[in-house]
Order: sequence, then structure tokens, then C-alpha cells
Amino acid sequence: MRIREIRSAGLRRPVTESGEGGRTTQERCIYTLIAIITDEGLTGLGSVYTDDGLVQSALAVLEPLYRGENALEPERVSEKLRQHTFWLGRGGTITHTISGIDIALWDLLGQATGQPIGRLLGGRYREKVKPYASVSMSNHASLPDKLRELREQGFMAFKMGWGPFGRQSKTFDESIVRAAREAVGADVLLMVDAGASGAFWKHGYKWALRTAQMLADYDVDWFEEPLKPDALHDYIRLRNNSPVAISGGEVLTRRQSFLPWLQNGALDIVQPDITKVGGISEARRIGWTAQDNGIRLIPHGWNTAVGLAADLQLASALPDTDLVEYLIDSPYIDELTAGGWELDKEGMLAISDAPGLGIELDLDAVAKYTGGEDMCRWLSAR
Ligand SMILES: [Mg+2]
Repeated sequence: MRIREIRSAGLRRPVTESGEGGRTTQERCIYTLIAIITDEGLTGLGSVYTDDGLVQSALAVLEPLYRGENALEPERVSEKLRQHTFWLGRGGTITHTISGIDIALWDLLGQATGQPIGRLLGGRYREKVKPYASVSMSNHASLPDKLRELREQGFMAFKMGWGPFGRQSKTFDESIVRAAREAVGADVLLMVDAGASGAFWKHGYKWALRTAQMLADYDVDWFEEPLKPDALHDYIRLRNNSPVAISGGEVLTRRQSFLPWLQNGALDIVQPDITKVGGISEARRIGWTAQDNGIRLIPHGWNTAVGLAADLQLASALPDTDLVEYLIDSPYIDELTAGGWELDKEGMLAISDAPGLGIELDLDAVAKYTGGEDMCRWLSAR
């Protein structure tokens, strides 16, 4: 089976500007779907965490390397694309785009062999995994109610992040965490994400350590991105001195970039994004290196239903990956798959053992968010 062509389509929805008479415009595209079309009629599905114009440009650069390639050899073909493009986009748009291609190639291999990707990665350590509800702190006044509502829906783990945290005062930060812990109760996981990879983050090591000590008082399970994303040495010190687990790594790409973080013990939990880091092949290798260095991989999942399906397959194939991120209130998670996602009574998500990614897309939702029927036509061959 050979790769005939690769198509992409960005996801967008209308947004209305705040204030009276606000204009309605299309939101900026940050998620792009990928379809690999083969000469035997099967189509593989992937997702890339970046703008669709960037993905289209990267596909044009990569096309001579992938056209006609074997469609059933994800790791070799992805590595070929990486090795031949190291000088024009290593770690950036090219790597992001390879992530979507790699996921789609694993999906094809699964479909062709009738096996779920997790089994093709070596075997399934688990049949289900706990999703944690990932919520923005932007609406901090209504956050406790939102958390209670999610608890009622069955979620048993929660992360709140970004928004005003670390941007106003110590007292304010603590009041958010106290209210959140009271809302969810004592018997569930609660995590906090400072989002220090955001533009012009102003705090350093001492703020991060003091805040970690406060979070420990509320039994917070991990403190995510408490430092600027390149502050490797401060991360090492913080992990050594923090009473709560330290996590990060969502902005890193390529397995090689993770080595200093994993080998120097900079993190308790490493969080590559499968739709950005280089795909399933790369995330799996990072996961095993992490495991060998006493660090858990829990994937960053602030992307799409296709990314979530890939995370579930990865989680099935890594011994320590017993949580996945579930982005709340995103149509690209909730609406893109036919039938949606369902938690069981223990707040767990089943990991599909159907071939490949194990999902079917809702083609109406695909048409709605990609702005046309093209992607549906390519995907209807799945
Ligand atoms: Mg984060």
C-alpha cells in the first residue's frame, strides 16, 4: 500500500467580538486535520497542532519525500521525513506536520492489520484510562460551579490553568485553589497549570517554589509549567525542592530535545503533545526514556478528538500513562467523533480496540468546522 496524496484542512468556528455591535469573524486556526490517501482506497487520519497555512506549506516541502512511500511503515517514513528536513524547520512547522502524518500512518497500519494502534506499539497495559477535565481559570468566579458540574458528569480528575493565576496576587491564587478543592472534594485528583510558556511570564524560581508549597496545602497532585519553558536548571532545582510533583514539556518537540530534561531529572511528569512533538512514534520513544529515568509521561491534550484518540492508544501502550488530558467545552473534542466520548461509572474512558485510532468522525461536524465538504470526501473512504 502506497501513499498517493496527503490532504489537510484547518478547524475554525465563528467568534463574536465582545461589546455592543461586535462583529462575528472566524477564529484563528490552531488545529489542522490530515488525511493520507492511499492507492488501495484506505485513508488514514491525523491531527496537527498548528495553523493550516503552515501545514499546507510543510506538506508542499515534504511531498517529494512521502509521495509513493509505503503507507504501512509509520516509524521509518516519519524518520525519513525528519532526517531529510533537519535544516529547514526542525522542531517547528515541519515537525508539527510530521506529527499528523505519523498519526495517520499508524491509523492506516491499524486498519490494514485489523489491530488497535496500542497493540501494534507492543501491547496494551490497560483497557481504559482516567481522563482529567482540563478547565481554564479565566472565568475564576464561576470555576467552582463548573468543577461541580464536571464532577456530576463523572470526571474524577481536574486541572485548572492559565487565566489570572500568577498574574494578580498570592492571596488571589490561593483563593482560587481553595475554592476549587472545596468544590471537587478531597477524594479526586486536582492539578494546577501556571501556563508559564505564555508570553512574558514574569515569575521565576522563588515564586514557583513558594506557590508549590501553597499548592501542597490543598493536596494538589501536580504543578504544571511553573517556570518559563526553557528554564531547565530552575526546573531541576524546583523538582528537587517542591512538595508537589512538577510537570511540563508541552512546548518541546523532537525526542532529542527531551533528553536533557529526562536525564537531568527536571520533571516528575513529562507532557509532550502528540500532535506537535512528532506523532505517536516520537511520543512513544519519549515515554520509554521517561520511564527509564523515573518520570511519567502524561500527554498534553489541548487539541482535537483525533489527538485524544491517539493519546488513548499511546496510554494503552505505556506502563505508567494512566491519565489523559480532556479539554473541556471544545467542539473539536466533543463533536468531531461520531457518538462522542463517554465516561464509565468510575470516570474512566474506554480505549478502543477497533482497528487503528478506533474512531469514526462525524462528517457533518467535520464539514462545519473545516468549512466545506472536501475533508469529508477524503475521509469517507475510511
Ligand atoms: Mg499546560
